[in-house]
Amino acid sequence: MKNLLVIGGGKSGLSALELGHFQDYRCFLYDDYPDKIEDSTKLFLNAYGVELLDFEKVKKIDFDTIVVSPGVPQTNKVVQYFLDKNADVISEIEFGFRYLKGNVIGITGSNGKTTTTAMAGHILHGENIDTAICGNYGYPFCKALIEQKFEGWYVVELSSFQLELVKDFKPKIASILNLSPDHLDRYNTLEEYYFAKFNIFKNMDSKTVFFANGEDEQLISYRNKLPSFTRWIGEKTLPLSVDEKGIYYERNLILRPEQVKFQGLHNLYNAAFAIAMAYEAGVGLSRCVEKIKTFNPIEHRLEFVDIIRGVYFYNDSKATNFDSVKKALSSFKNIRWIAGGIYKGGDFEDFYPFKDNIKKAYFIGDSAPIFLGKMKGVIECEISINLENAVKHAFNEAVSGDVVLLSPACSSFDQFRNYEERGKVFKSLVKRLKNES
Ligand code: ADP
Repeated sequence: MKNLLVIGGGKSGLSALELGHFQDYRCFLYDDYPDKIEDSTKLFLNAYGVELLDFEKVKKIDFDTIVVSPGVPQTNKVVQYFLDKNADVISEIEFGFRYLKGNVIGITGSNGKTTTTAMAGHILHGENIDTAICGNYGYPFCKALIEQKFEGWYVVELSSFQLELVKDFKPKIASILNLSPDHLDRYNTLEEYYFAKFNIFKNMDSKTVFFANGEDEQLISYRNKLPSFTRWIGEKTLPLSVDEKGIYYERNLILRPEQVKFQGLHNLYNAAFAIAMAYEAGVGLSRCVEKIKTFNPIEHRLEFVDIIRGVYFYNDSKATNFDSVKKALSSFKNIRWIAGGIYKGGDFEDFYPFKDNIKKAYFIGDSAPIFLGKMKGVIECEISINLENAVKHAFNEAVSGDVVLLSPACSSFDQFRNYEERGKVFKSLVKRLKNES
């Protein structure tokens, strides 16, 4: 029997253990915080006969394979120990790939991964093709493999963390949507972060299909690192191109913004990537286009909430970095912008080109003074302290046609459990306003 060690007992790590169990491994788990392991996880470990080890015990066993959970950095002492020994240290994605019988569509980028993954999955689903939408999406790849019996199409959202420690992982179709600074808390340099993403095409060849964003400055600057067979999606590319007027095939307009339920040029790009990938997976072009028209934006991503006395409300709580906020600010006029939380870095001058779209900003949370200091004099702004005040002030000052936009450019942990809770609180505040007005 082979021995499998998983480092990190999160959702992905547990799914690797489950897959290991069904592939007849003896399974072990190491976690830096064994005392914090939840009761439900303990039940899981029990059910699958997984033994929890400390570092001393780990050192006494010969492992055939070590799977590192995406949340655990390579600087972790146990990961380092095995890397130094040249052991088979891999990511959960790589482990799953070893048992795959179907095909992978892999999607990475700094922003838009979840949306594009959902869009591509939505198109394939509609065609009665066995499809699993998985990966960083909240449904681990290994878990999807078990449930899908290893066959079919896997539309896999891939974060840079998941793309570290891949060896033979080879999607049949893949995309890098864009690159912008993020996660500098985990990576020493921006290149380290970008190069982790580049692992998506590490094993791809000209029999596979790889798309990249032809308008993305960072991607273009790394052109010589991308595969020679890269297909670009951009303003002037063939056969598929994108601009404010819509998506074109061979220069013919095939989809106009009025025909879809989502907002913004960035989402047209996401849709173009999804169409391109679904088309390569065998769905006819006109079917791809028809299906995209029925795609509903996902929660917390420039999600339309309601309209009250002519004032529109949009929830973009997932916009935790500056690039995603820039896209939101470019998508509307007459914006009453709610931002702030825990500042993760970013250059405030990035927002200056959109100042004419912004009527006023309402800053909340820890970083409100930083935002005010940087944006005062450029746009009208105030410190509203919390989301409740911000929504109230923005609505009181709004006139018909204004857009109250929560697009925070920050993480949420100062005032909320996560971005989902922040978005839900925003939506409930809007609901309350509606009931009162
Ligand atoms: P990810 O999974 O990469 O974090 P999401 O689809 O969850 O991406 O979207 C995260 C944020 O980025 C949202 O605010 C969304 O509106 C914005 N966004 C979506 N697509 C793009 C894109 N192509 N470029 C920039 N921002 C985007």
